[in-house]
Amino acid sequence: LNTESILVRELFENIYRLMDPTLSHKSIELQVLLRQPNMCVIADKALLEQVLINLILNAVEAVKEVPEPKISLSASLTDHLEIMVSDNGTGIEDEVLDKIFVPFFTTKKKGSGIGLSLCKQIVSLHKGSLLVRSKVGQGSVFTIVLPAF
Ligand code: ADP
Ligand code: MG
Repeated sequence: LNTESILVRELFENIYRLMDPTLSHKSIELQVLLRQPNMCVIADKALLEQVLINLILNAVEAVKEVPEPKISLSASLTDHLEIMVSDNGTGIEDEVLDKIFVPFFTTKKKGSGIGLSLCKQIVSLHKGSLLVRSKVGQGSVFTIVLPAF
């Protein structure tokens, strides 16, 4: 890991800049919320960005058929740092939820099934965990939990 101290605000700005064209093109609203202004994370920047991009791209696919598609990227700091990607998309059925982190598992016609297993590995390398909550018809929330410094 090539770790450095990263301001979460700057991480989110990068992701916003990167994803904005795709999202505006699809009329998806991206909300960014920082509960505290100067949160830092010690991480491998390129890898952490890759995780967020993967989660957001999954969210983009999940909100395809939703009339008012919304994705939000938020962070909060307590005894650990939490970074969340939520969507108001299809949600995930319980039987599927058990398998989403398994390498090559996909429900998509042209999916690789690699994204989430990679995200989980990257988060583990940072001594964190990747959690998911989801409700069919309401949406999903993926939470990256990392140690706070
Ligand atoms: P892929 O995107 O190539 O299918 P992933 O590992 O990224 O592979 O995701 C695995 C599966 O998890 C997806 O096929 C989909 O069924 C489910 N999934 C992941 N993210 C979401 C989400 N935000 N909303 C609904 N389902 C999701
Ligand atoms: Mg994916």
